[in-house]
Amino acid sequence: MKRLVAILSFLLSLFLVLHAQKVNVYERPFQYERSRDYDAKHYRIALTFDLDKKYFEGENKITLTPLRDDFKECLLDAEELVVAAVTNSENMPLQFTQTDKLITVHLSKAYEYGETVTFTVKYHATNPKVGLFFDEESPANPVMVSTVSWPDRAHHWFPCYDFPHDKVTDEMIITVKNKYKVLSNGKLVSVKEDKKNGTKTYHWSQELPHSTYLFMLAIGPFAVIEDSLGSLPVTYWVYEKDVEDAKWIFKKTPHIIDYFNSLFGYQYPWAQYAQVTSPRMGGGAENTTATVLGQGVIHDRRAEQDFSWERIIAHEAAHQWWGDLITLRTWSQTWLNESFGTYSDYLYTRHDKGEDEGAYDLLRKKNQYLQEAHQRYIRPIVFDRYNRPQDNFDSHTYPKGAAVLHMLRFVIGDKPFFRTLKHFLHKHEFQAVDTHDFMTAIKDVTGQNLDWFFEQFIFKPGHPFFKISYTWDEQSQKIKLKVVQTQDTSQGIPIYTIPVIIGITTPEKRISEKVWIKHKEQAFEFSVDKKPLLVRFDEGNYLLKEWTFEKNLEELLYQLKNDDVIGRSWAASELAEFQDDPMAMRGLKDRAQNDEFWAVRQSAIETLGTLKKREHLGLFKEKCADKNSKVRVAALGVLGNYEEPELVSLFKKQFKEDDSYLAQAEALKSIGKCGDRSHLSFLKEAAKMESPRNVIKRAADWAIKEINKT
Ligand SMILES: [Zn+2]
Repeated sequence: MKRLVAILSFLLSLFLVLHAQKVNVYERPFQYERSRDYDAKHYRIALTFDLDKKYFEGENKITLTPLRDDFKECLLDAEELVVAAVTNSENMPLQFTQTDKLITVHLSKAYEYGETVTFTVKYHATNPKVGLFFDEESPANPVMVSTVSWPDRAHHWFPCYDFPHDKVTDEMIITVKNKYKVLSNGKLVSVKEDKKNGTKTYHWSQELPHSTYLFMLAIGPFAVIEDSLGSLPVTYWVYEKDVEDAKWIFKKTPHIIDYFNSLFGYQYPWAQYAQVTSPRMGGGAENTTATVLGQGVIHDRRAEQDFSWERIIAHEAAHQWWGDLITLRTWSQTWLNESFGTYSDYLYTRHDKGEDEGAYDLLRKKNQYLQEAHQRYIRPIVFDRYNRPQDNFDSHTYPKGAAVLHMLRFVIGDKPFFRTLKHFLHKHEFQAVDTHDFMTAIKDVTGQNLDWFFEQFIFKPGHPFFKISYTWDEQSQKIKLKVVQTQDTSQGIPIYTIPVIIGITTPEKRISEKVWIKHKEQAFEFSVDKKPLLVRFDEGNYLLKEWTFEKNLEELLYQLKNDDVIGRSWAASELAEFQDDPMAMRGLKDRAQNDEFWAVRQSAIETLGTLKKREHLGLFKEKCADKNSKVRVAALGVLGNYEEPELVSLFKKQFKEDDSYLAQAEALKSIGKCGDRSHLSFLKEAAKMESPRNVIKRAADWAIKEINKT
């Protein structure tokens, strides 16, 4: 799954301390893995749909084996379904009872452990509230049916055992009016037309076992774009009007699968890979072989710079291994799906867009988690207290877990890390897994016991907060580096044991040394014969952490120009402390204009922007023409904060000429900050413009409200 998260363009203040929990997650009830007394083997689901009446009817022929002796009654999950009859394999009726959530089938005899039981549930349903959706035609989408079986809603469209630890094979035999196409899991066995009734029957077969929350169905007048990776069919199921955009939006899919094939050391396991758009999805859902994506994935070319879905496309594709091939055993283990999916989309971003974009993507993920930690709560990543499975799909599960995997890779090394992933997939293919299975996989491959790492970062809440300082002694030619862990341990956050790389740059050489942090307070000594230009804590940015590192102006200016993108951005924000120093201002101005990476230019502009000095107006106006739209957004936002009426003409010009929807939106907001009522008609006209996620209309409405306040 992928939720849509607002992109955080700012660096979180690193001076925050953890507040008391705003949401007490420890008040949530304990949830245990469900007990069961049978193992479902196969569902043969045959349904006939009437899209006009929002109605479907049919049956699920269920094959299972009891996990105990004397098995006489079978409980199935079923909601919003009207069961008409249950019959045994000889087509004789079986007694059954139905409550809101369950069907109890009374079998014709008592079965013993390991025997095979088969029976058929005949049922119908009208427009369920969840699980399966009928959508009428709208300007955005045609008439269609789509499903969201995640996390436990498959049983709203077929009776089944609906918990992820039970994996089954299935067939989906779906009859619809012949103007519609049908997508489901697995491979398409046949399409049979009934000319007399004007219907078609699609027979899909998923021959490898998967969990019920990964079952899907999409019915509609789709256009199907065919692509491939070698012999693997890759298809994109989109609305007719979206075909041209879909061709370039999805075109990297085979490349993504190819990359993951080699990265994970496990060939894509399924019969095909399809992606289909749906009005019922915000981000995406990684149904086996057939990912459903929100229709926001489709946009015009100029929206790509601000609204690219490439990361989501990669994320959902990665789930075909992490989530679908091996699957969380229970909802306390969500990170085994989502942190691995999120880490995979980072790995793809780095592979496809290079080291700087990769580093910045990882920083953004860390900041998403830190925001949740500061504003809402902290919890262990593996967490068995929740009201609903959805509770655990938060910024601990997605970005924090991804950042923890990156640390784990740093601790055990690149090759052992990827060897472990490969082993974990092969050892547990088509199974449900928990965190201990992963811990054991590390021991299997590396011989190393990493339980201490999991104890700190997976089973305990929080993260380290380092306070770092150093002195250089000319006489002894030594750097003394002091590291203090200042996190509040009262909420169960530990004092961490973790290696870290200290980087030291002098005029003559560079030193990178790995040291181990093990105590609340520690001092390290390094011999260097010259005064250092830069001392870097966590060179390579491997750790999930907050930190303070007090530095003088000279060192910050050096770091601003010479460190990696994360260090340069950090130095830019630190220089706000030196607002009265012309050298600091010159340094920031230089980076705003000349840094090769957009996020450093953006960070320099945002830092200078907080100072609101008139001398920087010219710089910000110039940066409204930066080649990167995110930098232009920063410049436009900063300019708006001056609240100068004469800037409005610049914002209007920017709105008319900028090719970025987000920059246009920012220009409108800045009119709201600087303008008066004479600009309302311009804003009202602007509000009519169509844009992805309605960013233009929302910005215009906000600006109108601002002006009306005054
Ligand atoms: Zn996901």
